Amino acid sequence: MPGKLSASPIVAISRRGADRLRAGHVWVYRSDILDAKGVRPGALVTVQELSDKSVRPTRPRLLGSALYSTASQIALRMISPHPVGDLDHLLRERIQWALDYRERFVRDTNAYRVIFSEGDFLPGLIVDRYNDVLSMQVLTQAMDAEHIREVVVSELKAKLQPAVIVEKVDARVRQLEQLAEKESGLIFSAEVRTDEAAVSPPSSTSTEFQMNGVRFLYDAAGGQKTGAFLDQRENYAAAARYARGEALDVFCYQGGFALHMARTCEKVTGVDSSRPALEMAERNAGLNGREIEWIEANAFDLLRDYSDQGKKYDSIVLDPPAFAKSRKDLPTALRGYKELNLRALKMVRPGGILVTCSCSYHVSGSELLEVVSSAAQDSHRIVRILENRGQSKDHPIVLGIPETAYLKCIIALVT
Ligand code: SAH
Repeated sequence: MPGKLSASPIVAISRRGADRLRAGHVWVYRSDILDAKGVRPGALVTVQELSDKSVRPTRPRLLGSALYSTASQIALRMISPHPVGDLDHLLRERIQWALDYRERFVRDTNAYRVIFSEGDFLPGLIVDRYNDVLSMQVLTQAMDAEHIREVVVSELKAKLQPAVIVEKVDARVRQLEQLAEKESGLIFSAEVRTDEAAVSPPSSTSTEFQMNGVRFLYDAAGGQKTGAFLDQRENYAAAARYARGEALDVFCYQGGFALHMARTCEKVTGVDSSRPALEMAERNAGLNGREIEWIEANAFDLLRDYSDQGKKYDSIVLDPPAFAKSRKDLPTALRGYKELNLRALKMVRPGGILVTCSCSYHVSGSELLEVVSSAAQDSHRIVRILENRGQSKDHPIVLGIPETAYLKCIIALVT
């Protein structure tokens, strides 16, 4: 029976794999697996290092417990440096740690990431909260196991009392992990009761949430990816502290930056290529009693046209989608960032603000700074960094696991 006290199978890994774990990482790649014969998909395993006997004949060294994937290149995700007997208990404890962390560090919102996979020592699990709606994403074989799902869902229900829990399915991830095909949808509703005849209609998957005092609508059934970009929450507030005058929010999605800047700016324009996103942005503006101009356009074309026409703004936000999905996209991605930043810098009035972001893990903070620096040279502007920021604290960055850090947000003064 999974999760109960039972001897877990042993997986042997190489010295290289073990060194990576000792440096603080929690992943072991398939190329570092020496022996995992017969281990089932998603199993809880004990991890051992097999040293090279010709160099150092020693006994296998115990490295802790991990969750195994038979499909992913990331074959093992460590969950403890100690042997784990009771996985259910460990999961419950980790969920409580994640909640305690939010209690301590998340402010001014009822929408935040409750569980951030490796960042919360729960690899393969993501849970977001939008007021009374929880959105859960399962990324690995281990987290997809029926029994594990039950433990997670029952714990979330008990601790957060959501009205509904929806599952967001990333079809590509499920395919890579060789998991059965599945649709996004409702997995729990507080109103659906199986007792008596009391079967009320299922709760709505839409709700309203707030961050930094700005109101937003959330619809788990629609939206892109996660529904809202919670990782930018603290950057919205920071941007609004500096923004003024006429503002342009490029790649605005449902208006996160635009709505925050509307508090300090005289006029705000949001640009995005997605009509459904802009429709939601307009509803959000209405909810906050704001008038914002939304333009449906390709941002590259619009920035080129506007900068050629000599249009000027006091504050510009650039928050494009991840241009570098893998390492090999890096040169193209950097060209994309350069083009955007160059156009934007040309359009910022002297004394104005540029907020420029990258959510590509493969583009480092220093690479983004270099891009902005080279755009500053080409546009003959002086750029001073006011803040060099990252993702909100509900997306914890673990030292030793570089993949937990992905969002960059530079706020700069342009002269
Ligand atoms: N700033 C937003 C998040 C942006 S996500 C927020 O804080 O909520 C990236 C957005 O870029 C998406 O809404 C997507 O529709 C949009 N997008 C992608 N390619 C685009 C393009 N070429 N031109 C304009 N918008 C684009």
